[in-house]
Amino acid sequence: MKIMSINAGSSSLKFSLYEMDSKEVLVSGLFERIGIEGSKYVIKYQDYKITEEVELKNHTDAVKILLEKLIELKIIDSLEEIDGIGHRIVHGGMEYSKSVMITNKVIEDILNLSDLAPLHNPAHILGIKAFQEVLPKTPMVAVFDTAFHQTMEKENYLYAVPYEWYTKYGVRKYGFHGTSHRYIAKKISEELKRDDLRIISCHLGNGGSITAIKDGKCIDTSMGFTPLAGIVMGTRCGDVDASIIPYIMEKEGKSAGEVINDFNKKSGLLGISMKSSDARDIEDGVNSGDEQCILADEMYVNSVVKYIAQYYVELGGVDVICFTAGIGENSPHTRRRIIEKLASLGIKIDLEANNVRSKLTKISSNESSCLVYVVPTDEELMIAMDTLEIINR
Ligand code: ADP
Repeated sequence: MKIMSINAGSSSLKFSLYEMDSKEVLVSGLFERIGIEGSKYVIKYQDYKITEEVELKNHTDAVKILLEKLIELKIIDSLEEIDGIGHRIVHGGMEYSKSVMITNKVIEDILNLSDLAPLHNPAHILGIKAFQEVLPKTPMVAVFDTAFHQTMEKENYLYAVPYEWYTKYGVRKYGFHGTSHRYIAKKISEELKRDDLRIISCHLGNGGSITAIKDGKCIDTSMGFTPLAGIVMGTRCGDVDASIIPYIMEKEGKSAGEVINDFNKKSGLLGISMKSSDARDIEDGVNSGDEQCILADEMYVNSVVKYIAQYYVELGGVDVICFTAGIGENSPHTRRRIIEKLASLGIKIDLEANNVRSKLTKISSNESSCLVYVVPTDEELMIAMDTLEIINR
């Protein structure tokens, strides 16, 4: 069976088509600048990569061209070969703790949650509607980034603010990257042939979050009401004291929205290094003795270490720490720095094994008190697997 995994943004559409028996990616790519001048697509299949500038007025144009190309390139013979489509949805609020078949009610709910994810949820609806228009009979599934975190206990997801903010407005920790953390938990459980694991999953990309998982269920996670909270990220600050907001508003004559925008886009590695949000540039800066990069690197590592230590205690010990996403999979430097700072918990790294990129690998030494693994994430495959499971029911 063939399943398409979709991630629709306000002006983009990312896709991967899977052959589910082999879990092979038949084709993947991206439509960019939809509705903006200079729109184009990139399609990758086998060893080929096609890029073309085309006019894309809206997401429906992108979907039409995508499907035409799949036939033209003989990746599929007919559109009926696509058995299902899975859509990544950032926010499922408190309503969705699992992936679901997309119905009119689900679409309405996703739209109603736009208050909580104004940049993402309305864009996902554009993607869903475009596919509904072009492939009206193909079943579609919604896979929510927040769903995996719905198993947190109230004491872990509530903020100590007036309780009515939660009951009236849904102010609570939701957590994100859930599809990735769920994939990591599944993958490492399969690898170790155990379901009863205490896992700390470190998704370290441009955005980043740490999740504590026990017996396959999320216990706690570092992102919060929005993806701004938690560890230091590429351009996001992570946890800060909210009183900074009115203080900077007054000092710089900014609105609350502008300060939050600075927290989201001008902070993190970029804010401290004053150079780049990209971990590779920070690492280069560290190696060349750049003081701001050294400071940014230290703050980044410390913020991750603090969450791991917190979750170690919350979980009552840990069986395995997993590193994933751009930095987690590809930066031996960052992993080494993090693990070395966890020495007081008896966690030890195998430096040779750690010299690995994007490959499922044990990187803890045999004397370590817990296992440490690099586990490449695959959110698109997880979306496709959920979609297959739901349409097969
Ligand atoms: P996103 O959150 O945008 O999906 P990714 O998971 O792609 O982010 O991660 C992007 C981050 O991964 C960037 O900071 C990038 O510098 C980092 N990264 C990618 N490759 C390497 C590498 N070889 N060494 C260190 N960091 C890397």
